[in-house]
Amino acid sequence: QEKLLQKSEKLALLGQMAAGIAHEIRNPLTSIRGFVQLFKSNSQKEEYFDIVLSELDRINGIVGEFLVLAKPTADIFEKQDLTILINEVILLSSTQSILNNVEIAVDNSLHAPMIHCEKNQLKQVFLNIIKNAIEAMPGGGQLNIKVLKKTDNTISIQFIDQGVGISEDRISSLGEPFYTTKEKGTGLGLMICYKIIENHNGRLIVESKVEEGTKIEIELPFEGEFINAESDHRFDLSGQCM
Ligand code: ADP
Ligand code: MG
Repeated sequence: QEKLLQKSEKLALLGQMAAGIAHEIRNPLTSIRGFVQLFKSNSQKEEYFDIVLSELDRINGIVGEFLVLAKPTADIFEKQDLTILINEVILLSSTQSILNNVEIAVDNSLHAPMIHCEKNQLKQVFLNIIKNAIEAMPGGGQLNIKVLKKTDNTISIQFIDQGVGISEDRISSLGEPFYTTKEKGTGLGLMICYKIIENHNGRLIVESKVEEGTKIEIELPFEGEFINAESDHRFDLSGQCM
């Protein structure tokens, strides 16, 4: 019976999502169609091409974010080194962070433990969160990433930015599909994060202060132990033993 319930819940969610996607994709398609019609009548202004391109990017963005959710049965959960995953994602984000004058600092004073996870999904979560943090700091700033032991079997990964922040009344809307405050946002990033973290039996917690910054915390269960327990070895940012 529990399974059936889950299934009908899933179907309801699927219906909601399908309606949302259809709506979100139809808007840019309508706009593209209009401009192509203009082109046909020979009014091919440079800016029209730019609009068409950005509308196409928008559709591509929406479809791209959904691809992550499209293959839930192909999940491969394996033990992964969290420190390596985080470093890989920072590297992937580096062009965006450098272009936006955002410095990403990792507190490596503890070496993170092994995490049982779907590597690509977890990387997607980190990527989405880092992307949001960079976008929240249009004038640049610092993004601090901290990994700490929360309880004996829970790890906490924190992303702390100095961005625009989120007002209290908007925090509850985070993770709703298509909820965005950005002109070019999809409003899918956090929804995907919540979904993936839930799949990993973890929690995603948002704390924020307008004009001060935002802390996105991910709690995940971990097995084994921290490789370098408190103050045993400390690492500076270059990974060198201090
Ligand atoms: P998108 O980035 O496409 O808008 P997301 O689901 O990633 O969609 O984020 C939804 C909304 O949550 C954003 O539009 C923004 O208003 C808010 N948000 C997310 N992360 C942050 C952050 N670090 N600082 C400020 N606002 C944020
Ligand atoms: Mg986003």
